[in-house]
Amino acid sequence: MPTATTAAPGADTVSALVRDHLRSQVVAIDRDGLYPGDFLRRLGAAGGLVGPGRTDDLGSALRTMAEVSETCGTTGFCLWCQNTSAWYLANTANSGLRERHFAAVGAARRLGGTALSNPMKHYARFEPLKLAGTPVPGGYAVSGTLPWVSNLGPDHAFGLVFATPAGTAAAYVTCDRPGLELKRTAAFAALEGTATFALRFDRFFVAESELLAEPAEPFVRQVQAGFLLLQLGLGFGLIRGAQRDLIGCELPAVAEEIAAAVAPLAAQASALATTPLEPAPDYLQRVLRLRLATAELALRATQTAAVGSGARGFLATAAPQRRLREALFFSILTPSLRHLHRLLATD
Ligand SMILES: Cc1cc2nc3c(=O)[nH]c(=O)nc-3n(C[C@H](O)[C@H](O)[C@H](O)COP(=O)(O)OP(=O)(O)OC[C@H]3O[C@@H](n4cnc5c(N)ncnc54)[C@H](O)[C@@H]3O)c2cc1C
Repeated sequence: MPTATTAAPGADTVSALVRDHLRSQVVAIDRDGLYPGDFLRRLGAAGGLVGPGRTDDLGSALRTMAEVSETCGTTGFCLWCQNTSAWYLANTANSGLRERHFAAVGAARRLGGTALSNPMKHYARFEPLKLAGTPVPGGYAVSGTLPWVSNLGPDHAFGLVFATPAGTAAAYVTCDRPGLELKRTAAFAALEGTATFALRFDRFFVAESELLAEPAEPFVRQVQAGFLLLQLGLGFGLIRGAQRDLIGCELPAVAEEIAAAVAPLAAQASALATTPLEPAPDYLQRVLRLRLATAELALRATQTAAVGSGARGFLATAAPQRRLREALFFSILTPSLRHLHRLLATD
């Protein structure tokens, strides 16, 4: 892992960026599908992303994500995609690949995503791998389709996993290449501004120099806790936003109950984020339980705030109903509640 240190920005810097460059865009992001790439670049330039020197403790990235998600869950999710993309590069043993991309992705000079929902569901025995690679000189020709991958565009990059004749491989590739088609196939109930596409791979060439790991499974296990911990930033942001919405609802007892419920979760997250590569099974179990508790609380808090806000919160541009839709997404985002229950029951 690279050792050069770049300081994370202070909370004031993140707050100022949110206030000056995100707040006025939130309704357009939610209702018109405006992609907040410009905001991600600003945050990246300020050192607000997972990047070289900022991977030992993911707490700062998580808190930045919470701050952003409190204002806009869609942008918080794009930020998760970007940070997770960088997290793959931080953890690959392929130093050439890391050197080519990590600094640029970690500063959002290159934007990127993660296509690991399908392999995560595959390892949980929910579905088969959707991509398959055939060996060709110098790499693999990969074919198949993925229904939803976010934070993408023609000049973006992302991590993926595909089946090979010998097992599986993980790779990090750019979108600007023949054999890969990005298609907008559906309108979503929320998260419209996340630049989410269906991907069709048709003998898409993945060079050996682009492999994050082969086989993929040990690598996926290695990055899994960080993948989950970073998602918590979205959940905590939604909960904090709901707490803010509740202030005007004259429901002080409920607001206090939610504040009391979130405080220990946030403390656990900060503690667990200091060792994102801890291999002990018990550590992963604690992260999974925390992810489940955070998703459940996000649903409860946003629902309570939306109901408590009455018709005012039901306006198309109002925050309470938007957060409720974003919390619903958080509960179906891989690992979904169902997926988490299965992992916690079987591991
Ligand atoms: C806006 C958006 C953006 C996304 N971005 C990305 C991305 O960037 N990268 C990425 O990899 N993925 C992405 N995804 C995918 C996402 O992470 C989830 O995988 C997906 O939303 C949930 O998949 P699922 O419907 O299979 O639900 P899951 O919860 O994973 O699985 C539920 C499945 O199990 C079935 N089921 C439910 N309950 C039971 C039961 N009791 N018994 C039997 N079957 C049951 C359901 O019918 C359903 O098919 C995105 C999705 C959306 C909507």
